[in-house]
Amino acid sequence: MRAALLAVAASQAPATPGTPPTAPAVNSPVEPGVLPARWMTGGPNCLELPPWQVHEYNPDFYIIRESGCIHYEKPFLYLIFGRDRALLEDTGAGNVETAPFVMDLIARWAKRNNRTAPPLIVVHSHSHGDHTAGDRGFKDLPNVHFVAATVAELQKAFGIGTWPSDIVPIDLGGRIIDLIPIPGHDVAGIALYDRRTGILLTGDSVYPGRLYVSADAFPAFVASHRRLVTFTGDKPVAHVLGTHIEQMRTPFVDYPRGTVYQPDEHTLELNRGVLLELDEVLGRLNGTPERVVLRDVILSPQPARPPR
Ligand SMILES: [Zn+2]
Repeated sequence: MRAALLAVAASQAPATPGTPPTAPAVNSPVEPGVLPARWMTGGPNCLELPPWQVHEYNPDFYIIRESGCIHYEKPFLYLIFGRDRALLEDTGAGNVETAPFVMDLIARWAKRNNRTAPPLIVVHSHSHGDHTAGDRGFKDLPNVHFVAATVAELQKAFGIGTWPSDIVPIDLGGRIIDLIPIPGHDVAGIALYDRRTGILLTGDSVYPGRLYVSADAFPAFVASHRRLVTFTGDKPVAHVLGTHIEQMRTPFVDYPRGTVYQPDEHTLELNRGVLLELDEVLGRLNGTPERVVLRDVILSPQPARPPR
């Protein structure tokens, strides 16, 4: 309800930066929603902050941010509801009990909709520890289909024949989420495209911050990004949402790694223009990893990982 009320209020107010779209939903190819002007980060007083911030983009699309007071990475998680299933992307960073919190959110959603709680699919933008820390709590829960963040498990769970070129639909019941494999930042990286809202979830591959990619994975990163650009070429993209914010509102400037309190951070949302800009840069680099500072993202190649 909160999102809907905000949308009504905004349609009666003059447009200011950060306010929701004013066009009536009937003119939109996608279901609209509202993003906050600012997110909770971490501090200034950690005693006053809850561990999670829940934001209803709309009644069936939740964006959850972990407090920077728990872990400086303060990642974003996404909870999307279809008629038959819900889907959670990522489980948080650091010492977190994500499962009870998420299951309670789902129960409350079900209560509001006068129905039983739907089964939950748990997936990950990628396998790194700041996105999987809460995994343990989900693994043995009834009504949860937990998909580990590995290529093999993703292929098995979603019938992905050829990794990474196959793009597969996940049907939540009246709502299709396209899964696009995008290895590069991590071997098991995926993007998710919600056809209903036109939101593209890009994990750590594209977000307002430092896009880390190891030199040996650079060709894969470039190819994945190109596939993302091609995939979105004929689709409405309302927002490109990643899993961190490290940039400041000031163009080209990022917070130092490990910053907890970010009172002037960039918006979470990017748009397809940023994908195109990055794609152009990647093409220009012609296979040579190089740090490139753009307005909203910083391409940050790292030395190749030592062989394990
Ligand atoms: Zn991350």
